[in-house]
Amino acid sequence: MRRIEILKNPKYGDYSDNITIRAHHLLCIQGFQGKGYSDEFIKNMNYLIKILNKKAFIVKVIDEPDPICSYCPHLKENVCFESDNSEKRIKLMDNMTMQILGLECGHTYPYHEIVDKIIKNISSSQLSEICGYCRWRNFCLLYSKLK
Ligand code: SF4
Repeated sequence: MRRIEILKNPKYGDYSDNITIRAHHLLCIQGFQGKGYSDEFIKNMNYLIKILNKKAFIVKVIDEPDPICSYCPHLKENVCFESDNSEKRIKLMDNMTMQILGLECGHTYPYHEIVDKIIKNISSSQLSEICGYCRWRNFCLLYSKLK
């Protein structure tokens, strides 16, 4: 099992300047409005967004569980069990996101460059295609901005 770079920490305080994020979560971060799978998940997501907006982070983009997943109740033995076949389905979302944004799996980018790419490159139809039937769609800021 691949070790997740940032382990669970009840203090929500140990993110370094480099962070690993699975590609479709880069979109979730833009659309997050405080809804999520558990209190711990929401607290971690709020904390992560706060620090991403404060410091110049370098992001390694991947297509597997990340530090956001590590606070999610659906992650078991480093695999997403949110629904049937979810890890496979979510990998597909990650890969579509990378393709549309012109990102390479395993490569690193300044976070602000990724945000620019999202603003410039993602259309409403592409977002619908990537996110499919995501249960959080009606709560997503990015989705409501683009539709
Ligand atoms: S549902 Fe799956 S992909 Fe989403 S945060 Fe949880 S473990 Fe990660």
